[in-house]
Amino acid sequence: MSLDRIPLAGVIGRPIAHSKSPQLHGHWLQQMGLPGRYIPMEVAPEDLEQVLRALPRAGFVGVNITIPHKEAVLEIADLVTDRATLIGAANTLIFRADGKIHADNTDGYGFIENLKQNAPNWNPKAGPAALLGAGGAARAVISALLEAGVPEIFISNRTRARAEALHADFGRRLTVVEWVQAGNMIEEAATVVNTTSLGMVGKPELRVPLDGLRRGQLVTDLVYAPLKTPLLAAAEAAGCTTVDGLGMLLHQAVPGFERWFGKRPQVTDEARAAALA
Ligand code: NAP
Repeated sequence: MSLDRIPLAGVIGRPIAHSKSPQLHGHWLQQMGLPGRYIPMEVAPEDLEQVLRALPRAGFVGVNITIPHKEAVLEIADLVTDRATLIGAANTLIFRADGKIHADNTDGYGFIENLKQNAPNWNPKAGPAALLGAGGAARAVISALLEAGVPEIFISNRTRARAEALHADFGRRLTVVEWVQAGNMIEEAATVVNTTSLGMVGKPELRVPLDGLRRGQLVTDLVYAPLKTPLLAAAEAAGCTTVDGLGMLLHQAVPGFERWFGKRPQVTDEARAAALA
């Protein structure tokens, strides 16, 4: 790429209009006075590989990848980080100068950094974690929690087979709990995480019994629309420490931005406001 070319990045998904990433990256570029553009791109699955191979030639230095392409992109990338392989999905691509596509997954990093920033007293080693859900996001959260030193993870999902698959992949520190027993596992946990889409605007509500929530627990929800989900409201009322899901979205964006545009951005109140605008 010639030196005077403005570096381009963006996010690829389908649909993509709802993505908050363009506002966030646009805010960081402007705030740091960096040359660069970040563009939302709607791409069909059958066009993904061709688009990805063409973008570097148009001046792109990398892209974020979102639903429904996060798994498929692993087949296209030339290099995949260990954590993306373990999670089975990538959300951040770097187009290297030698033409190779490098795939990483920063969702787990974003999850942990969000907790560190907004619940600095959280101790992952304090006790077991209870995880609701076993989809793509759950895989990233599990790998991050295990790396952070959580001694045991109880996992409960409507479709038990998906939770069993996670147990098979991540091993002995995971215990699968029946969906109807999810309320009990919450009671025993030091850390409680909702990784289902339940409680999100337009989705059904989370019907798991929450009377086991108590002071001393850390409760976080990956759903960030609304910011205060019914789970977080119940946790707050029970005296738990709560962290909303928007911070995960902001923090997962940091490594990509730094690689593409050369400076590490900060997750500030202004960045939060920009993502919500
Ligand atoms: P996914 O792979 O489609 O998984 C969805 C999960 O929700 C599965 O565990 C699914 O259970 C469960 N679920 C959906 N409808 C249900 C219902 N009616 N009853 C019980 N369980 C239900 O999605 P994902 O990529 O993991 O994302 C999950 C959520 O996390 C989404 O809301 C997404 O927006 C959010 N997210 C947030 C961030 C962030 O940065 N904050 C990052 C990633 C994802 P089954 O297996 O039984 O279908």
